[in-house]
Amino acid sequence: MTLIDTRTPEAKRLISGATGDWEIIIGLEVHAQVTSQAKLFSGASTAFGAPPNANVSLVDAAMPGMLPVINEECVKQAIRTGLGLKAEINHKSVFDRKNYFYPDLPQGYQISQFKQPIVGEGKVIVSVGPDRQGEFEDIEVGIERLHLEQDAGKSMHDQHATMSYVDLNRSGVALMEIVSKPDMRSADEAKAYVTKLRTIVRYLGTCDGNMDEGSLRADVNVSVRRPGGEFGTRCEIKNVNSIRFIGQAIDYEARRQIAILEDGGKIDQETRLFDPNKGETRSMRSKEEAHDYRYFPDPDLLPLEFDQAYVDALAKDLPELPDAKKARLISSLGLSTYDASILVSEKAVAEYFEKVAAGRDGKLAANWVINDLLGALNKAGKGIENAPVSPDQLGAVIDLIKEGTISGKIAKDLFEVVWSEGGDPRQLVESRGMKQVTDTGAIEKAVDEVISANPDKVEQARAKPTMAGWFVGQVMKATGGKANPQAVNDLVKAKLGIE
Ligand code: ADP
Ligand code: MG
Repeated sequence: MTLIDTRTPEAKRLISGATGDWEIIIGLEVHAQVTSQAKLFSGASTAFGAPPNANVSLVDAAMPGMLPVINEECVKQAIRTGLGLKAEINHKSVFDRKNYFYPDLPQGYQISQFKQPIVGEGKVIVSVGPDRQGEFEDIEVGIERLHLEQDAGKSMHDQHATMSYVDLNRSGVALMEIVSKPDMRSADEAKAYVTKLRTIVRYLGTCDGNMDEGSLRADVNVSVRRPGGEFGTRCEIKNVNSIRFIGQAIDYEARRQIAILEDGGKIDQETRLFDPNKGETRSMRSKEEAHDYRYFPDPDLLPLEFDQAYVDALAKDLPELPDAKKARLISSLGLSTYDASILVSEKAVAEYFEKVAAGRDGKLAANWVINDLLGALNKAGKGIENAPVSPDQLGAVIDLIKEGTISGKIAKDLFEVVWSEGGDPRQLVESRGMKQVTDTGAIEKAVDEVISANPDKVEQARAKPTMAGWFVGQVMKATGGKANPQAVNDLVKAKLGIE
């Protein structure tokens, strides 16, 4: 791959060393496990968490004479993902054997795609931020290619004192390797890129994106150079399995390389490992080259071919993706870019929001979902899948505010009741007497009481009309927050004789 510089160095992304500024260059190879019932070339299950070696067919165990048969669903998933990455779909692609020995690779080779991948160049728009001013910056990360390949099994060295065990459940599971161009310039950009990629595959339903289950992991390529100078030698940090670790690995690796270069040394191109306990990377082996693998087209598999109609049919059924959804929330509901970005960032949040917003005031719904629901979930350490308040319940709370049955303040209390005890918000308002008092007679009585109890404040308010707010507050308090704030405001001003 020829490296093309797509970015201008910017001060905020540079790191300063002892001898001047440095720019970090990052390119990622993300392995995303394809969502499918069966493996790439066998009918064995892909279910996570099965007992060791429960999901292994004769093909996955590489028994002599077994033949791979392509799983069409995996092909469709790769095409869908390619479309989601705005990438070129190759109507003809070829499966190759990548030869290497590993105890958890029974075939002695991995079936992958080398020169002719199923998906070619594409791009992803990544929002990086927010920065200290609360601003997001959109950058474009180029996609080099996406290819299909088999996952390997897993060696287990901690099961026995003198022996290693092997679990072949993952052997043959379909992976999409998504290779980016070296377009990222900071750990934050790389983290935002992986986050965006995960969002896209989750919207598409092509990978579950669960990094803690190993469904999405990244090989992180890092090099450093003087701002705008020649690309430097890269190191590749293998199999980093959390977004936080990706950031830590990049920062550590960049500093390590800068220290070597500033010391007059040179970077060896090598494969490294990230140790999450130490927050360090360490050398694993010197970089292998493509020719080391003796790639050749797999003689058991024909080239994979389909026509444009096949691609078009898949394109027609794609769900709305985060960028499009964000644009729509901004243009049709009038949401701010910031709010829309938060709401689309997770598929489950977007779905929740859209249920709440359906037929309601979009901005009000956005405020409630972002500030109240997400705020409470955050505090409780819960994901939206386990939200104690359903979209219907939150929608009902919003309806009650809109129709004037409860005040905004009471709505917060109601939300808490629904959160901790459940129930129908409308019935709760009835049974707990939370209804807003709009009866002016009752409000007037409360206003009169506050006024007669505070003659000194009345004097002050006449001299300084902003004091009226104090009276409004007292009346709201006296009515347990149930008085209609507008009615209180009007009455207070009228009684005090101020504008
Ligand atoms: P390989 O498969 O041998 O690792 P690739 O050409 O597929 O090689 O590139 C792997 C990744 O390395 C790509 O994501 C690419 O963007 C990235 N990359 C290439 N050169 C550099 C560099 N100088 N610095 C950082 N990343 C790089
Ligand atoms: Mg690589």
